[in-house]
Amino acid sequence: MSRATSAGTDSGAGSDTDSAAGTELATLGGRFECKVCWHVYDPRVGDPVWQIAPGTPFSALPHHWTCPNCSTEQAGFLQLED
Ligand SMILES: [Zn+2]
Repeated sequence: MSRATSAGTDSGAGSDTDSAAGTELATLGGRFECKVCWHVYDPRVGDPVWQIAPGTPFSALPHHWTCPNCSTEQAGFLQLED
């Protein structure tokens, strides 16, 4: 019994690493693209223009945040499908 348990743990280790990375991306909410100038906000990068720290989801941006390239409001962004 104990041998079978440890074997199952070993085989699941690799897939656990993959799912952890996917969960992190899902938590961040994905990237958003400006409909006007195609600027992409990537939550893994943040926004150095607005001093937004890496790891900040688009939904957590301050309300006064606008496109750093063309000043389009957040409502003018579309979520990208990765
Ligand atoms: Zn823009």
